[in-house]
Amino acid sequence: MNTEKGFNTALKIHIDEKNKLEHVTRLNMKIPFPLENKKVLVTAWETTITSQVGRVLVDFIESDFNNIDDFKNIFIGYAMFTLVSEEDKKKLVNSKGLYYSEIIDIVKKYHNKLKNEFISIQKQIIDILDYCIFDDSKKYFEGTTSLQKFVFLNTLSDTKNKYPFLENNHAEQYLVNAIKTHNKQIQTEEELEDIISSHETVYYIRDTYISDSFFFLLYLELYHLLKETMILKKCKNCDRYFITDRIAKIYCDNIAPSDFSKTCQQIGPTKKYEERIGLDSAITLYRKIYKKKERLAAKKGESYIQEYENFKQYGKGMKEAYQTRKITKDQFVKWLKDEDCE
Ligand SMILES: [Zn+2]
Repeated sequence: MNTEKGFNTALKIHIDEKNKLEHVTRLNMKIPFPLENKKVLVTAWETTITSQVGRVLVDFIESDFNNIDDFKNIFIGYAMFTLVSEEDKKKLVNSKGLYYSEIIDIVKKYHNKLKNEFISIQKQIIDILDYCIFDDSKKYFEGTTSLQKFVFLNTLSDTKNKYPFLENNHAEQYLVNAIKTHNKQIQTEEELEDIISSHETVYYIRDTYISDSFFFLLYLELYHLLKETMILKKCKNCDRYFITDRIAKIYCDNIAPSDFSKTCQQIGPTKKYEERIGLDSAITLYRKIYKKKERLAAKKGESYIQEYENFKQYGKGMKEAYQTRKITKDQFVKWLKDEDCE
């Protein structure tokens, strides 16, 4: 285990299958507010991040690692202490702390260094997920679970070359914590009896993986998604990956790309209905106003002709902007209503 002046830089991961939660413990960074001229301290206290099982993997495969902000979120959030050199580790746990700009310099350096590896691993994970979860074209796989497909995939001879990600991540240690109490170290059988018979004491057994590899965290989450501890889905509206514990759910709860005020779950069912009957309420409104302006131009002439021509010309661009998602449905409808008020 890597330790630096007593700082343990490994990740500790506990998967709580019953509650579908994962607890990832890592070194804590004390970030001051406001940031200007103050230093960020890495403290010896560890911090635990709790989320749904699979959360980090979904964030990882949905990230654009050419973008430094996406890289930064994953890197600082989980990966940093397991991926930097010994020298940089020393810098980070320096008791005097680092300015935020110095941390950003470290992020930039590793963005250059790791970007391609992250992108490669991202592709490998997406391929594996496709093979095991989303590809239903292979008839001989009918009735097999995702995890069984994963086991089959691992037996194929070219898997090692295709997916090096599966080869090089391991937990260094696997601990089964014995009975642990809030406030007491148990030494004798009498103390044990005392503690177990006491109603105030909480004790539990907890498995913890300890790993110096951020990629092990991804591997463990991959395993649990294939095992369906949480269910991985692809949103039918935005095509992004999301996790859920409801097998029937088909839309995600992220902000919808076509309408920033709603989630895919809020607009997906309506949109699907409109698509099914060949109807989009915004396009219908566009056609209605178009026809109305055309009629007025023919009947009243003059300024109405100009208005109709303007709408024909400008409206086409707005309609295209809406259909290619450059503007939201709300923006398009608002524009249409403003045009309609004369
Ligand atoms: Zn979505």
